[in-house]
Amino acid sequence: MTKINSLRGMPDLYPEDLISWHPVENKLVEIFNSFSIEEIRTPLLEHTDLFKRSVGDTSDIVNKEIYSFNDRNEKSISLRPEGTAGVIRSIVEKKLDQQQLKLWYMGPMFRYERPQKGRYRQFYQAGVEFLGFPEGSSDFELISLVCLIIEGLKIKNSIIKINHLGDKESKKAFSKELVKFLEPHKKILDEKDLERLNSNPLRILDSKDTNVQNLLKEGPSLTDFISDSANLMLNQIKSSFSKYWDIEIDTNLVRGLDYYNGLVFEAISDDLGAQDAFLGGGRYDNLSSTLGGKEMPSIGLAIGLERIISISSITSSKEKKIAFITSTSNIAPLAFKIANQLRIVNPNVSLDMDLTESSLKAKLRRANKTSASHAFIIGDEEVESESVIVKSLREDIEQVNMNYEDLNKFYKEI
Ligand code: AMP
Repeated sequence: MTKINSLRGMPDLYPEDLISWHPVENKLVEIFNSFSIEEIRTPLLEHTDLFKRSVGDTSDIVNKEIYSFNDRNEKSISLRPEGTAGVIRSIVEKKLDQQQLKLWYMGPMFRYERPQKGRYRQFYQAGVEFLGFPEGSSDFELISLVCLIIEGLKIKNSIIKINHLGDKESKKAFSKELVKFLEPHKKILDEKDLERLNSNPLRILDSKDTNVQNLLKEGPSLTDFISDSANLMLNQIKSSFSKYWDIEIDTNLVRGLDYYNGLVFEAISDDLGAQDAFLGGGRYDNLSSTLGGKEMPSIGLAIGLERIISISSITSSKEKKIAFITSTSNIAPLAFKIANQLRIVNPNVSLDMDLTESSLKAKLRRANKTSASHAFIIGDEEVESESVIVKSLREDIEQVNMNYEDLNKFYKEI
């Protein structure tokens, strides 16, 4: 039989990979809790229309990257490419769109992109949404959350970039001017940017082409189209946080999803290579009404877990591990009973029961190859005397025989 491989860009995660995931996931949840943000879980599958309406018909994500297929009723459904649309769909559906909520989520997202380092087709995001909060304090609090994430996960060489896209009208007015300016220079634009000129001109500001970037310097600037108060806010955010964290205003920063307005931001790190953004977000004041809900001014962010994990220098504290060995399988029922009592006494230790049928010697050899500090051994004699042998696997000291009470005490204090 031929082997079946995983889908391209959808890696498996093994215990040795997940060792660096767990401390980051735990730290993020700790930080979210410390901001009084609560968890929400929404489905991985949604109606395709949800993403068409929210992320935008003209965005790359919906045009080329979405995994859509028909279900058994010929209804088009899609794997979520991002988390915000599902959260807002749920809030509108439950009629919670007049409340103020601070929510977080964590889970896999799916985009049919060209896989490369830091870019996958199934990847994980942790996201935060502040729902029902107008522009102002919520923007400051979300940026302060970004700062604490950078601090808490010990990320070096990072910059937070911020920009303001204005409201719907100023975005439209600026787009019109930009198209007018770029029309006579179409020759410089590549196929992708030419397409954007019609569908989503703001995204051309994102172009990686230096000729286009040089040309844009001569063109209209978004700063001239947004209000004085928006410019003031950008400067206030920069001055409040830049003493402690690297924050810069980048007037070319636009984000890939259509629903953004107002403040947008991205955090990048030099340590990441080409795909250098590990987090991004912004305001989406019109998304709720676009999805049939009431006006619900909101702001959110999404963190790319693979990327942030690769640059975070926090590690988990060393695991405490014990190997549990019985000389014959008929002792196993007693061993399982003792093992469970120990697990109740101290759940922070991992007790690894050897389930093989091999000799005591082979079992000890195997235990020695693991990170276990001790082996607990039960043979016929120990069953008889209601005791357990405790043998150090790290130090050259004599093994001891402990009764169950002493063993419990020992286990509690490991
Ligand atoms: P976005 O939802 O596009 O704003 O992305 C937010 C963050 O998710 C980015 O800054 C990346 O860190 C991460 N991200 C986006 N797309 C991918 C991908 N295909 N593979 C891995 N991480 C991604």
